[in-house]
Amino acid sequence: MVSIAFIGLGNMGGPMAANLVKAGHKVIAFDLVAASRDQAKADGAAVAESSVTAVKGADVVITMLPAGKHVLAVWREVVPAMTNGALIIDCSTIDVESAKEAHALAAKHGIGSIDAPVSGGTGGAKGATLTFMCGGAEKAFASARPVLEKMGKKIVHCGGAGAGQSAKICNNMILGISMIAVSEAFALAEKLGLSHQALFDVASTSSGQCWSLTSYCPVPGPVPASPANNDYKPGFASALMVKDLTLAQDAAKATGAATPLGQHAQEIYKAFDAAGNGGVDFSGIIQHVRKLAGK
Ligand code: NAD
Repeated sequence: MVSIAFIGLGNMGGPMAANLVKAGHKVIAFDLVAASRDQAKADGAAVAESSVTAVKGADVVITMLPAGKHVLAVWREVVPAMTNGALIIDCSTIDVESAKEAHALAAKHGIGSIDAPVSGGTGGAKGATLTFMCGGAEKAFASARPVLEKMGKKIVHCGGAGAGQSAKICNNMILGISMIAVSEAFALAEKLGLSHQALFDVASTSSGQCWSLTSYCPVPGPVPASPANNDYKPGFASALMVKDLTLAQDAAKATGAATPLGQHAQEIYKAFDAAGNGGVDFSGIIQHVRKLAGK
């Protein structure tokens, strides 16, 4: 069993590290927050005094951090301290440019690297059912796969450096746009006097069918497990949707891609977030859409 250093023990990283312990790995964990380190200890991990101490002698290093600047700062510290032949995996959602810079840094020190952002949220992190979207060399991916399989159920190699992040932001741009589309359809149906269930029964088996409707329906009733039935508690918070749509817009600008609906979705989610709804599940956007009526 490879030994693993895990840096960033927040809502996602904490349970992911715990699953690696459960799978029998020796895990050395670090986070800036003492409470997260205590939780990791309670979950059976060893706790290090710093990121650099954590990675010394580890076969695999995993980072799960808020944004590109945190990942680059941590990688600049830990990569030079890693053992020859070790592998570093970043599971955070970050901008493609930072991901590529991180890969280049690892390559400069002869360390294999993978960008492996996830989908599946905190439920997937706890249940070890995440999807990992990976970018990097074939050899590094082959070494990463058995470790990622302990935390997820689907592992996809998307291409070279940064390809995992590219796939993640493209997917979440579809998600943000489609959730707004489904919300607009329900808001229109309400005005037309059409019941939620009637629209669901038709659209879920017709050409309007999509994940935002059938798995995550933004009105209560048709999909009992969706956050709409639980006062829009996340799930996936609107603030994180703003983050991902902003990463998509940054990438669109950098590459010259046209994403008019992605841009509009970003504006709509930003307005929802600015009105104090950053902690509301992203399907709560239907409340914002309803309020736009007559404006
Ligand atoms: P979080 O804020 O709960 O956790 C981030 C952790 O990183 C915190 O505990 C923080 O203390 C730690 N940290 C920051 N800088 C550090 C440093 N220099 N050294 C050590 N630790 C440091 O965030 P999260 O919800 O766990 O998300 C982590 C990443 O996963 C983000 O990039 C996010 O976009 C992505 N993501 C989150 C979800 C979700 O549903 N929460 C879903 C998919 C992807």
